[in-house]
Amino acid sequence: MTAIDPHSAEEIRVRIAPSPTGDPHVGTAYIGLINFLYARQRQGKFVLRIEDTDRARFVATSEQMIFDALHWLGLEWDEGPDVGGPFGPYRQSERSGIYREHVEMLLQSGAAYRCFCTAEELEAVRRRQMAAKLPARYPGTCRTLSVTDVEANLAAGKPFVIRMKVPAHGSTTFRDELRGPITFEHTNVDDQVLLKSDGFPTYHLANVVDDHLMRISDVIRAEEWISSTPKHVLLYQAFGWQAPRFWHMPLLRNQDKSKISKRKNPVSLVYYRQAGFLPDAMLNFLGLMGGGMPADINNASEKFTLAEMIQHFDVKNIRPAGPVFDLTKLRWLNGEYIRALSLQDFYATLRSTVLADEYLTEIASLIQTRIETLGEFGNLTHFFFADDIQPASEVFLPKNRTPEETLVFAAEQLAVLEATDWTHAALEPALKQLGESKGWSVKENFMLLRAILTGSTMSPPLIESMIVFGKARTLDRVRRFIDVQKKSKK
Ligand code: GLU
Repeated sequence: MTAIDPHSAEEIRVRIAPSPTGDPHVGTAYIGLINFLYARQRQGKFVLRIEDTDRARFVATSEQMIFDALHWLGLEWDEGPDVGGPFGPYRQSERSGIYREHVEMLLQSGAAYRCFCTAEELEAVRRRQMAAKLPARYPGTCRTLSVTDVEANLAAGKPFVIRMKVPAHGSTTFRDELRGPITFEHTNVDDQVLLKSDGFPTYHLANVVDDHLMRISDVIRAEEWISSTPKHVLLYQAFGWQAPRFWHMPLLRNQDKSKISKRKNPVSLVYYRQAGFLPDAMLNFLGLMGGGMPADINNASEKFTLAEMIQHFDVKNIRPAGPVFDLTKLRWLNGEYIRALSLQDFYATLRSTVLADEYLTEIASLIQTRIETLGEFGNLTHFFFADDIQPASEVFLPKNRTPEETLVFAAEQLAVLEATDWTHAALEPALKQLGESKGWSVKENFMLLRAILTGSTMSPPLIESMIVFGKARTLDRVRRFIDVQKKSKK
């Protein structure tokens, strides 16, 4: 495949396809930025598709959070579930009929087959493969079922999934635009499930069908999807479709080079927004990842705007080795952007973020009954306006508890907070239940969390304060507390 000529007649259409499974991720912003630039540089279209077929991991509030985060960054999309477009619907849960129709085509042509294996049978196979140190693979039991067997199973009402029939021999090669040709032997490609027994498609089927029907010219996504690409290429072939170009971007990494994770860095865009990072600084920082900007822009300065990125960014320059998401650098860069604001703009920015009316009103409601002079406002509320709070051990350590067990319990609190809806009705019983199961009194339990959140033993009501402060920032505070305490022990 030849390099793309930005002036060619081909219509460039790219997409991001986030799954609404939780907070919007910095990785989505990174891939979003690259797709956005690619489209804007070529007078193309940038599409937002919501891949919500995994009902087990679906989070109802997540889609809106994705929209909000992308708007915050200014990565506006041309087509999507909220703005519509000629190739909708853009939410996969609204496209079930399309997937069923397409999987039917594959059944007809023999490129896919019904699999009646039960979960127990598959589990037994998986165990045997694990014991023999073999990769987990579908053993092919139903690949050769006769038409009569299939009909008998259907008549008996046996549940089934539909799998793709990966050729037993040979290999599939595709071109990755950053890496060159990549080959996968078919013996290493599993007979992927395409349609689940609940009638929902898997990612692979829905992704390929949608990319084709939405006329996507370039699939630009994270490198974790490279091993899925041979399956996708085989699907394009089975349908008789031309595959798009594939670009796999490096994964953002923690300092230790592991894949970026919330244990080592905040990964939620909600966090960055609420903690007061500026969208321009965030975009600039993401644009630095991987080296897509030529080094000589602005006399080798690392600062550039979205408009400058549209002008100069070149996806082909991106190095496939994982760029490190260096929070220290992001903070430095953010500081530079803050200093570059006029005082008026700086103040306006504060008033629309950390000093927004809505936030201040919520905080005021928590302390009105607890102060005698207005001057005490700050005494009870400073923790709402601080980036980091590190309580002294006299403040957080319950009597009769060791620092070690306290730290273990704080980690358990963190896990509960992560998994709980951010409402009073959910948080209070969840925390209490944790305390009961671990033998921590309500007082010890709540005092520890209060100390971590507020730095003090006295504060406005704890759970209400957590709700106003927000989930993303509360979790970050607990994580930082645990980190600092762990490091202080080393
Ligand atoms: N739904 C996938 C995700 O959440 C999309 C991957 C792709 O771009 O193909 O990342």
